[in-house]
Amino acid sequence: MKRDTLIFDLIEEELDRQEEGLELIASENFVSKQVMEAAGSVLTNKYAEGLPGKRYYGGCEIVDEIETIAIERAKQLFNAEWANVQPHSGAQANAAVFLAVLKPGDKILGFDLSHGGHLTHGSSVNSSGKLYDPYFYGVNKDTGLIEYEELEKVALREKPKLIICGASAYSRDWDYEFIRKVADKIGALVLADISHPAGMIARGLLKDPLPHCHIVTTTTHKTLRGPRGGLILLGKDFENPFGIKTPKGEIRMMSSLLDMAVFPGIQGGPLEHTIAAKAIAFAEALSDEYMEYILQVKTNAQAMAKAFTDKGYNIISGGTDNHLMLIDLRNKNINGKVAERVLGEAGITVNKNMVPFDDKSPFTTSGIRVGTAAVTTRGLKEKEMQTIVNLIDQALMNPENEEKLAEIHDEVNDLMERFPLYK
Ligand code: PLP
Repeated sequence: MKRDTLIFDLIEEELDRQEEGLELIASENFVSKQVMEAAGSVLTNKYAEGLPGKRYYGGCEIVDEIETIAIERAKQLFNAEWANVQPHSGAQANAAVFLAVLKPGDKILGFDLSHGGHLTHGSSVNSSGKLYDPYFYGVNKDTGLIEYEELEKVALREKPKLIICGASAYSRDWDYEFIRKVADKIGALVLADISHPAGMIARGLLKDPLPHCHIVTTTTHKTLRGPRGGLILLGKDFENPFGIKTPKGEIRMMSSLLDMAVFPGIQGGPLEHTIAAKAIAFAEALSDEYMEYILQVKTNAQAMAKAFTDKGYNIISGGTDNHLMLIDLRNKNINGKVAERVLGEAGITVNKNMVPFDDKSPFTTSGIRVGTAAVTTRGLKEKEMQTIVNLIDQALMNPENEEKLAEIHDEVNDLMERFPLYK
């Protein structure tokens, strides 16, 4: 077949969009060329069900080496005793953990989606909320901070088997130690889903959940700056406390239950091209350049939060400890949906987001979420954070003014031209 120009032209267009626009979606980043090269390599041709050295297919000697390197690097990066690098995504990593430690109908306790949690932590539209019995904790209405007392109250009352911490839109650090103490009172396991701040945790900029939480999951493509994918970690392996047995009646270690939950539990063949790209990203994340990068991500987020606050924007919780912030736009008389569209017209990509105690629907929302992981990869620093906030403010103050939005779009393009990506 001749080259599929329809698709390749669209990929070229997407490259232009990424190069020219201002990417503020908190869950996105730009991988290095070598990560992309590995993700687009011949490894996509290979079937490798099973684990290194224990495969159900022949010809796996080379992918065994690659996957072993990925596992070792993940362990080194997070100071973990065990890792599974096969989950196709963050959602798959979480689903595998649930399959490994829960039975259908078991109670789980997670961070409320409408307060910043993630769909896979018990939402009614996700398998986690359909297969298991979800309960939630949230943030305080005045402070925007997680109500740990409420978490403890619900945990002691409902006695969930699994407490999940981690979020998609929470800008503060977590008290993993406290959550573990609560879990120990009721014999529950703790899962930390560090998908968003993984890179910051790996390099010591935020508290480390591994010593406290039984199991840790993450995506590999947000602050970690790897290919799209998931990862499961154990700070320390342990015997399954609920006594769940294998079909042969054996009690297994948690590492073994998790391996089996990923494959054959919820996945077939692992994506070895993605695993190779993960291995490269893990090595990159261990480098001095990455350390400089992730420090700048945090500095930029703080500079951006301050610039928004100075312009009268309401940042939930009043600031940020990580790479993102959630902005309540209600005092600016614009909703999240309109803000997302208007900023899109100005060449700035953000996502609309519910804010805690939102009175608008998830389709409209009262807020937007912004993050600095992607723009920091482009090389932008504190000075540009101020420029970005000025541009966002001008756009949101002129939502119907096409001319003004086009002007801002040109300014965005000029700005980004100074910080080339792949070209
Ligand atoms: N967990 C959290 C906290 C997330 O923010 C996300 C994605 O945004 C996921 C899980 C799901 O990751 P994926 O989109 O790779 O399935």
